[in-house]
Amino acid sequence: MLKTPVITLDMLINHQDVGSCAYFDVRDPGRLTDLVGRVASGSVDHVHQAVLGAHQAFQIWKRTPVSERVQRLLAAADGMEKIADELSVTLVREQGMLLKETQRDVKNGIRALREMAGLAEDFLRPERFEDDEAIVRIEKTPRGVVAAIVPWNAPMGLAMGKVGPALVSGNTIVVKPSEYAPLAVSMALKVLASFFPAGTINVIHGQADVGSALTRHPLVRKISFTGGTTTGKAVMAAAAETIKNISLELGGNDPAIILDDADPAIVVPELIKGIFPRSGQVCYAIKRVYVPRKLTSAIFDAIVSAVDQYKIGYGLDPRANFAPMNNRHQYTIVRGLIERSRQAGASVHALGTKLEPDNWDNGFYVQPTVVMGLPPDAELVVSEQFGPVIPLVTYDTPEEVLELANATEFGLASSIWTNDPERGLAMASEIEAGITFVNSHGRTALGDKHMPFGGVKQSGIGRVRTAIGLAEYIEHHAISMKKVTNGDRL
Ligand code: NDP
Repeated sequence: MLKTPVITLDMLINHQDVGSCAYFDVRDPGRLTDLVGRVASGSVDHVHQAVLGAHQAFQIWKRTPVSERVQRLLAAADGMEKIADELSVTLVREQGMLLKETQRDVKNGIRALREMAGLAEDFLRPERFEDDEAIVRIEKTPRGVVAAIVPWNAPMGLAMGKVGPALVSGNTIVVKPSEYAPLAVSMALKVLASFFPAGTINVIHGQADVGSALTRHPLVRKISFTGGTTTGKAVMAAAAETIKNISLELGGNDPAIILDDADPAIVVPELIKGIFPRSGQVCYAIKRVYVPRKLTSAIFDAIVSAVDQYKIGYGLDPRANFAPMNNRHQYTIVRGLIERSRQAGASVHALGTKLEPDNWDNGFYVQPTVVMGLPPDAELVVSEQFGPVIPLVTYDTPEEVLELANATEFGLASSIWTNDPERGLAMASEIEAGITFVNSHGRTALGDKHMPFGGVKQSGIGRVRTAIGLAEYIEHHAISMKKVTNGDRL
C-alpha cells in the first residue's frame, strides 16, 4: 500500500512561510501509528511578528473599499473550494471524523465566507440623520487586529466563521488553530491569504503559551475564541488587561426534552442525529435526554435499536458511519465518565459494530453508549461529556423537567420534542439557551441563514452568523457635524 507523505507545515506571517526550531507531531486519531504531519511550534516572538504584520496590513486594508473586500473574499472562497477534496481527506486523517463529516465542515467554511460577503455591503453602509442644524453619521468601522482561536472539533466552519466577518468588515486577522487539528485549516488559510494583501491573514501554531501571548498582545483589539469554558475564562481575563473586545463560543450541556405526547417512532431517528454525529464532539450536540416516565422504555428501546446499527471504523472507510474521537485527553474524559456511571450502578449499553477490532486500540475508538438509571445530578448528566455517551433521565412533570434543564451554568443549544407545536414553542421560550430547536436538534437550511448562533450564561458571549454575528467585528463611530452653510455633506 502507498504511504501518504507526511505534511510539513510552517506558520504563515506576512505571506511568508515561517519555520521554527521545534515541530510537533500530528497523528491520525484512527491510526495512531500513522504520522500525518509535523507542525512548526511557534514562540511568543512569532506571535509578536504575526500581530505586527497584521497591524501594519490593517492600515491599508481598513481603507480598502467594501466592494473590493467583498470581491476578494468571494474569490478566496472559490479558491478554497478548488482544494475542498484535499482538505476533507486531510481533515479526516488529523481530526478523525468521517469523510462525509469533514466534507460538510469544509462546505460550511466556504459557505460562511460567502454569506458574510453577501451581507457586507448593506450592513456596513453608514447610517445618516439630518436636521436644519446638524448632520449625524454613524460609521461601522473595523476594530483592528483580530485574534482568532479555533478548536479541533469543526476547525473549518469555525475558523471561516471568524475570517469572513473579520476581513469583510476591514479587520486583519491572526489565526491560531488547535494543535489537535492544525493541518487542513492552515492549508485553507494559506490559499485564502493569497487573495489578500500580505499580513491580512496570518497563522501561528503552538501550545497554550502561544494562545495566551496572542490574547495578551496590546495590538490585538478583538479576540474571537471558540473552545472550552475553562479556557474561555483565561481568555476573558487576558482580554481584560487591555480591554479587548471579545466573542466567546464555549461549551454546553444541551438538554433534549421529550414531552409526553411525542411519538417515539418519529422522535428517535431525528433525536440520534442530534446526539451522535462526529462521535458527540459537537458543541451544540444533545448532552442529556429527559424522557417522561410513561415513554421511558419505548424511547430507550428505540434509541438502542437504532444506535446498535452504527458501524464504527476509520473515517476514510466507506463502510463506517461512526468514527473515533479526536484526542487522548477527551477520550480519557469520556471513558472515565462511562466507567464511573457503571460503578454508580447505572445501566450502561455500549452499542454498534467494530469494523476493525484489530485496530481498535490503535485509535481513540469509543462505542456509542447509552446510559440509563442515573439521577439528575449525576456527573454524566451535569457535565459536558463531548463524546459518544448519552444519559437518559426520567422525569414526571413539565415543571420538573424545565427546572432540571435550566439548572446549569451552560446555555448553548437545547431541543423540545412534541406532537403539539404550540406546546413546543411555549416550552422553547422558557429554556435558558442561545438556541432552541423544536422537533429537531441541529441547524436546518433555513436556520443556517437566519439563526444567530451562540450561548448564554457560561456558554459564551456574542453570536456568529447573520448580521448579528457581523456586528461583533465592528465599532460604531458616531460623527456629528454642525452645519455652517447650506448643502454641507457628511
Ligand atoms: P480548548 O479550550 O482546550 O482549546 C480551544 C483553543 O484554545 C485551542 O486552539 C487551544 O490551543 C487554545 N488555547 C488553549 N489554552 C489557551 C490559552 N490559555 N489562551 C488562549 N488559547 C488557548 O477546547 P478544545 O479545543 O478542546 O475544544 C472543545 C471545546 O470547545 C468544548 O468545550 C466545546 O463545547 C467547545 N466548542 C464550542 C463551540 C461553540 O460554538 N460554542 C464550538 C466548538 C467547540 P491548543 O489546542 O493548541 O491547546
